[in-house]
Amino acid sequence: MAHPLEVRIISRRFGLPNSASIDTFLAHQGYEALRKALKMTPEAIIEEMKKSALRGRGGAGFPAGLKWGFVPRQSPRPRYVVCNADEGEPGTCKDRPLMEYDPHQLIEGILIAGLAVDSHQGFIYIRGEYRYLIDIMDRAIEEARGRGFLGKNILGSGFDFELATHTGAGSYECGEESALLESLEGKRGVPRIRPPFPAVAGLYQCPTVLNNVETYAAVPAIILNGGDWYHKLGTPKNGGTRLFALSGHVSRPGVYELPLGMPLRQMIYEVGGGIRGGRQLKAVIPGGSSTPVLTPEHLDVPMDFDSVAKAGSFLGSGGVIVMDEDTCMVKVALRLTEFYQHESCGWCLPCREGTLWLRKLLARFHAGAGVNADIGRAGELAENMLGHTFCPLGDAAAMPVISIVKQFRHEFEQHLNGRCPFEAKGARA
Ligand code: SF4
Repeated sequence: MAHPLEVRIISRRFGLPNSASIDTFLAHQGYEALRKALKMTPEAIIEEMKKSALRGRGGAGFPAGLKWGFVPRQSPRPRYVVCNADEGEPGTCKDRPLMEYDPHQLIEGILIAGLAVDSHQGFIYIRGEYRYLIDIMDRAIEEARGRGFLGKNILGSGFDFELATHTGAGSYECGEESALLESLEGKRGVPRIRPPFPAVAGLYQCPTVLNNVETYAAVPAIILNGGDWYHKLGTPKNGGTRLFALSGHVSRPGVYELPLGMPLRQMIYEVGGGIRGGRQLKAVIPGGSSTPVLTPEHLDVPMDFDSVAKAGSFLGSGGVIVMDEDTCMVKVALRLTEFYQHESCGWCLPCREGTLWLRKLLARFHAGAGVNADIGRAGELAENMLGHTFCPLGDAAAMPVISIVKQFRHEFEQHLNGRCPFEAKGARA
């Protein structure tokens, strides 16, 4: 059931009986945006997207309309539309319900992107761990093809478009767009040097639109209701709503569709029902595990890309992880570093070695075997990784650690007497 503060646009069909079927979709405005877009020019579609101020929901927050506008439509090379469904950021689980409960909405968004850039082939790159979603998407693609929404001469318009799923192998790194393209081409999933960016030289070195599941899912509503309508749902330069995955020590964790710009306080205390067990808030990761932590002093920050950046973090993938007063922040830093060390592809030295040494140092510290100088060393190691790696994974590993060392130095010091002070309380991280 929807929370009263939710504004359900892309999740409006969640909860309908048999919501993934094409019949349910068609009974609730399904493929109406495609019918409308088929009568529009590519320029008009891109213009609506620009007006909507829809920013990429995968993490970077780049304006989708602008990105589509970069694709050279007159290029003699084919153009591709690629959907990043490699959702792997810890704390993030919002693309999953979009594919599970409303796969046709995603297909419709991809089709409209195809129209906008004059592409005839799309791919959905789905993480290997989402096996059951691959089956759901494949079934939906077959249904759409069977009803004339995919394939040759779609709805008699003369527009041809094919769509296929592709399975990832469970590498976090393949969520990075250039590594995803390498993997989609059948190569090892390591990042490419950029520029050129995918809009100009993407899949098979051809112009490519590459967006996240949630970004494409918002497209049908924008085309149906207009870019201005969508823009007004959010804040200036941060159009619309987004799915926030609220997790951690809140009373009502879940995936909620909320307007961009909702204050963090309202999100945690009204939507999430406050901190579990009536405890105090200690820290919040606002946009997936790679983003610097915020503290209770940031509770009035509006949750949009610009405001969260101004507060020193990122809205990222919309995974909001809430931590209460009993959480050991040294253990949080260790857990995050263990993840990034495991996922480092090993391509460049600062990330490969930096995450390894950082993990060893934090593990020693958390075990109570650290010395005072290790606190500075942890911060320095992470600072040396920041901005010095080949892809953003290095920054993703460094940023949360830097912010934890800076804001919770006293907790590191409390570990100097040989034990974790939170363990006796049953610390959670
Ligand atoms: Fe690989 Fe890490 Fe370098 Fe990215 S930063 S290329 S994940 S080693």
